[in-house]
Amino acid sequence: MIPKTQASNHLALAENPPSPPLWVTELRQAIRDPLELCREVGLDPQTLDTPAEGLQAGHQLFQTLVPRPFIQRMQKGDPKDPLLLQVLPQSRETQHWPGFTQDPLEEASANPLPGLIHKYSSRVLLTLAGSCAVNCRYCFRRHFPYAENSLGQEALDRILDYLNRDSRINEVILSGGDPLATSDKRLASVVKKLESIPHLKRLRIHTRLPVVLPSRVDTRLLDWLSSGRLDKVMVIHINHPNEIDTSLEAALADLRGIGVTLFNQSVLLRGVNDDPEILAELSEKLFSLKVLPYYLHAFDPVEGAAHFALEDTAAQQLYQQLLARLPGYLVPRLVREFPDRPSKTPLGWSF
Ligand SMILES: *Cc1c(COP(=O)(O)O)cnc(C)c1O
Ligand code: SF4
Repeated sequence: MIPKTQASNHLALAENPPSPPLWVTELRQAIRDPLELCREVGLDPQTLDTPAEGLQAGHQLFQTLVPRPFIQRMQKGDPKDPLLLQVLPQSRETQHWPGFTQDPLEEASANPLPGLIHKYSSRVLLTLAGSCAVNCRYCFRRHFPYAENSLGQEALDRILDYLNRDSRINEVILSGGDPLATSDKRLASVVKKLESIPHLKRLRIHTRLPVVLPSRVDTRLLDWLSSGRLDKVMVIHINHPNEIDTSLEAALADLRGIGVTLFNQSVLLRGVNDDPEILAELSEKLFSLKVLPYYLHAFDPVEGAAHFALEDTAAQQLYQQLLARLPGYLVPRLVREFPDRPSKTPLGWSF
């Protein structure tokens, strides 16, 4: 029998379960239906390049997922809105193009343990979470077998052992999916274990979550992120200046406030940001928020997303225009990742 006081405590807890963090609620309320997404932005699917059947065909290949705070930053009634184009499924995703594959970076072969990608000597990617808060149509990991890579305790122990044995590794990058789609409790516990590996210096987080759901940067996140001995680096992912609103600005200020070093990476996307004006504006805005541009990724040839690809020569031309327009420190490095290279490869200048 349960003593009375405990029983009533138990009851009290049941009546008032701890409320989930706001970002979790907002993520649950994200739009997962392409037709609903059209309605939200005031578009009639029949008037799009991609009518309803096309939306569904793309959606079948890679599920629609868009949080409402991101939708609020879209221009209503504009089928070419640069934020909408990043998340709205298209019939073109079903087309096959030569050279566009499911694993363009051949990551499957650099996957020594489930959940770990070790391609560059001093740093590893830990794919903690199998999901994201937004499904970007151009994502080069849209076909990645996340289910096989979501980490249980045993897999995590094996990874820690691997990291402990390779003293060349000084930086762990939490990647994904989106690592911040994981609970703070889990993140704090993983980071605590990483802290105990003496040769690790830095913890880097590659995330788009604060961009699409700024409420993710809450006190629980700031708590574990501001503790411990590892230097913290966050690489956020913004492709277009319209993605920046005041709530994102506030989130970035909070991260800066606890000493996180902030960078941004973008993917060069046809129809979204393949314009030197737009990229220059993005760099300027980032700088005003004390975020430095890091990489501009030349498009990876992932199956289902060929319509976003830009010719390398066009990418190089655009990059040269950026160089002429911006101070060097505001020009993100134009890079591509090739399988079997020890680092990303700069594409910036052709002689
Ligand atoms: C991009 C990437 C990294 C990080 O590379 P940096 O140049 O340090 O940003 C590490 N591992 C893999 C597999 C990557 O794709
Ligand atoms: S947030 Fe990043 S990993 Fe997730 S779908 Fe978008 S690009 Fe891919």
